[in-house]
Parts: sequence; C-alpha cells; structure tokens
Amino acid sequence: RIAYVNGRYLPIDAPAVQIEDRGFQFSDGVYEVWLVRDGNFLDHAGHLARLKRSLGELRIDLPMSDAALDIALRETLRRNRLGDALVYLQVTRGVSKRDHAFPVKPVRPSIIITIRPAPRAPVAARAETGIGVITTDDIRWKRCDIKSISLLPNVLAKQAAREAGAFEAWLINAGGEVTEGSSSNAWIVTGEGVLVTRPAGDDILNGITRQRIIRIAAAQGLRLEERAFTVEEALSAREAFISSATSMVMPVVSIDGRPVANGAPGSLAGALRESYEAGLEG
Ligand code: PLP
Repeated sequence: RIAYVNGRYLPIDAPAVQIEDRGFQFSDGVYEVWLVRDGNFLDHAGHLARLKRSLGELRIDLPMSDAALDIALRETLRRNRLGDALVYLQVTRGVSKRDHAFPVKPVRPSIIITIRPAPRAPVAARAETGIGVITTDDIRWKRCDIKSISLLPNVLAKQAAREAGAFEAWLINAGGEVTEGSSSNAWIVTGEGVLVTRPAGDDILNGITRQRIIRIAAAQGLRLEERAFTVEEALSAREAFISSATSMVMPVVSIDGRPVANGAPGSLAGALRESYEAGLEG
C-alpha cells in the first residue's frame, strides 16, 4: 500500500509523520472519505466542498489547488492499483512546537492520503441480512458538523457496539433523540412510508451519502421529513437504516437487541440502495 504524504508517495508503514504534527498532538485537523467504484470517485465535488467547509471552520488553509489535490488523490489510487476502494484524506494544521494556540507564524498544513480496498461483496452481504445497532449517549462536542479527526467519542461508541455484537452505535442526545451513528447518518421510515432523518445542523455530520439519498427521494417523489426522531419512534418504525460512504444504504434490523418491525431489512431501504448503486454506474 502506498500513501501520499506532503507531496511524496511512500509505503504506508514508512515513518512519515512528525511527532510535533498538530494532528498527532491535538487532533487539530480534518478528514474526508471517498468511496471509489471502478476507479471513479463518488460525489467527488460534494466531499471536496465539505472538506473545504471543515477546513474553513478551523481556519486551516489548504496549501494546494483543487487540481493539484485531485491529481494527488487519483495518483495515490492509481499507485495502489485498486478499482473499488476507500480513499482517506487527512489535513492537519501542520508541524509546530507544542502549544495549544495556533502557530504564530503559519506553518504548512500536512496532507496525507491513504487508500484501502473496498470489496463490494461483504457490504452487499451485510445489506442482505441488515445490521444491529446499539444506543449510547452522544457525548461529543457541539461542532459535529466539522469532519474533525478528533474522534474519541465515536471510537468509544463503535467499540461499545462491537462488544455488544452490533455493527453501529446510534448516538442519543440529552433530549432522547437519535443524532446519528458513530460513523453514519441515521434514518427511519414511518408507518406512513415517510423517510425521516435529522436535519443538518451543528449536532451531526451532514453526510454526502445522506445528501444524495435526499436527492434520490426528491427525484422519485418519496415523502421525506428532515426532523428529529427518538429510539422509541425508531423501534415502532416500518424500517430503519444508516447511510455513509462506506455502507451506502444499510438496513438496521435491531436496536439494542429489539427488532425493528419484523426484524428483516426494509423494502424502501433496499430500493434506495438499488437506486444509489444505479447512480454509481451513470
Ligand atoms: N456521520 C458521521 C459521524 C460520520 O463519521 C460519517 C462518515 O464517516 C457520516 C455521518 C456519513 O457521512 P458520508 O455519507 O459523507 O460518508
């Protein structure tokens, strides 16, 4: 595996990141994840726009033009010889003597690109059976709209899910509402067939997959409400699912061990997944 590190292409295990990188010291940075299918970056523009927004919110200047970044992303993918892949881009504020405040003299942000294989079969198989989620308190900060590399609450939530034999953790705010998953957005389908997902705000990451599903729903004339929902509502819903670049549309069949509807993947989630996949071909 080959990684891109500040203009160089290096083996993934090469010592390349400095101890005083603020990403390492403070998690002072952001990231993006692209799903690549047959060599095509899905929703490239959307991910790039979100990256720039995250960087802007943290006042980190990307030291690279869009064109140069694009070349680096594609060249890293090419060197890994993968058609179906996940591409991770991390940008940190850069290397500077340890001090919480920003470096007085601006430093060059660090840019790292890594690639990993994303075979289709395991994800498709998971979508056939559906996944279980657990619920856990949303203990994150108040700027979850920024795709920060600071992911400790998400790490702990995912670990809790893993230990409970579940695939994802749904994060519950003080009001008892589901904000989102530890690495995905959360959805339900009501008994009336209405798609429901939490509105984009500073308490969730506005998923690029989420935005694509909203576009698909609009194009297909599906009813959709962007509003909060609780675990109780999800448990009495007709369907539930999660969305993310890695999982696309993934049916949720149980919450804290209790079945959603009849405990089988829902038909609307399946149809959305198909529409989503069909869009990838176009
Ligand atoms: N919410 C969180 C906290 C995430 O980490 C992710 C993706 O990693 C998402 C939502 C889904 O975003 P996307 O659809 O852009 O992958």
